[in-house]
Amino acid sequence: MEDQIGEKLPDSYLKLTRVFNQFEVREEDHTLRIPEKVIRCIWNDQLFCTPRLKTQDGRSLEIIYPGHWSFGKGPDFTNATIKVDGKIYEGDVELHVYATDWDHHGHSTNPDFDNVILHVYMWQGRGIKHSKINLKKNPAFDFEIKDYLTQGLLDLNNQLDFETYPVLNQCNVGLCHEPLSGLPEEQLLHLLNTAGEARILKKQERFHDPIIVDGYEQTFYRGVAEALGYPDNKKPFQVLADHLPLSTLKDSVPEEFKDEERVLHYQAILLGASGLMESQSWKEISALRKWVKIWDGYKDSLPESPLTKKHWSFRSIRPANYPYRRIAGLAHLLVFHEKKGMFADFVHQVSQLETENVPRKQIDSFFKFFCVDAKDYWSQHYTPGGKKLTASQQLIGAERSREIIINIGLPVGFIFASAGKFLELEKRLSLIFQTRRGSGDNKLIRFMKHYIFGDQKERTRLLASEKHMHGLMQIYQDFCTQSQNNCLRCPFPEVVTNYFP
Ligand code: SF4
Repeated sequence: MEDQIGEKLPDSYLKLTRVFNQFEVREEDHTLRIPEKVIRCIWNDQLFCTPRLKTQDGRSLEIIYPGHWSFGKGPDFTNATIKVDGKIYEGDVELHVYATDWDHHGHSTNPDFDNVILHVYMWQGRGIKHSKINLKKNPAFDFEIKDYLTQGLLDLNNQLDFETYPVLNQCNVGLCHEPLSGLPEEQLLHLLNTAGEARILKKQERFHDPIIVDGYEQTFYRGVAEALGYPDNKKPFQVLADHLPLSTLKDSVPEEFKDEERVLHYQAILLGASGLMESQSWKEISALRKWVKIWDGYKDSLPESPLTKKHWSFRSIRPANYPYRRIAGLAHLLVFHEKKGMFADFVHQVSQLETENVPRKQIDSFFKFFCVDAKDYWSQHYTPGGKKLTASQQLIGAERSREIIINIGLPVGFIFASAGKFLELEKRLSLIFQTRRGSGDNKLIRFMKHYIFGDQKERTRLLASEKHMHGLMQIYQDFCTQSQNNCLRCPFPEVVTNYFP
């Protein structure tokens, strides 16, 4: 039987196995176990006969908008719109090979899937009972796709270049893609520039009041702490910085302590107040006992912390970025800049930059302002008591340092420059914003590049600077999120057409 299948499907098999290493031919029942990406591509292009679709419980189904291909964790397509028995539903779509994969992947207990309105699968599955998905917020419907395909799976496989999805495939792009692709380059750049400026102004707004109440240094420290927690631990880091303001930290640790000892004590206080030292293992592992001992000496003299280990997220976070290491890095930064203040040192560093044609080397080194290259326990461990790393790793790396500069350093810096009328400083901060952006795209940028620019190279190359990139993120904020990613009710396509007639 293996030979028979092999003779019938050589090209398809080779193509699929080249692209998808999970492909397998099931010898017992001659069915193909296809990778989920195939179903994603079919859903993306809506390659099924749409007028007569039925959900598994026999209701009429119409796909009004298939949603956006998701590049991160959670459902496969987000913000779809469907009509079931004449009623509109908006939410996410999850795709599987078999209906039972829903249970196998544990989606029922994962809150990221609470907003799924449609569960799409190729086959119901043979002899395996699938419990209908039961979600807290929305009614969800099941849809078996196999009988509705426009062509057989193997024909589709021959015709579609699955490898290029979703990057080169433009069937499923946002409704603003068309008006934007018709704009001349200078108009598009103008749009991105103004959106980028709006983003920095918006970021400034949230720092104004804290600066008046708490001053520049405390506001900056809180901002840096928050940025160390992006995205999932932003809140507990804010709470930690509010609970342990700079003045409390400074007053708690004896003045005569030298840098190395100060770092250790700051780490112990911050880790202790974070609630992350709660587990028994901290007391049991000898290498960790010193932090417990130091924390024991401070905890009764400090206000009770509102944080516990439960407030911190470890899900989908690379171990190198675990909050233990971020907190350890923050302690190093605080001690390193303790003399003059972290914000004062930042402003000084900005003022050292050239005002025109900043040499690449100079700007690259400036973007490492928040990097922490330590030689301590945390630079060699991802977790307390975990395996020792073969080489030390930065507690705060170049990419995070760059993010802190753009998201915290620039807005707080611009407020300071404008309040003091420091025009040269303002000029330098503007130059930093216009520098070439960092490498790598986050989930949001990948999404926007695809849905707004259709991944057209001549358009995406315009996203060369931090400012343009942040402009794109502001468009997402102002339009995609405001219309809940539903292009059908988004005013942006009309805004583009009216603004650039
Ligand atoms: S929601 Fe608006 S801005 Fe976002 S992709 Fe759709 S049309 Fe474009």
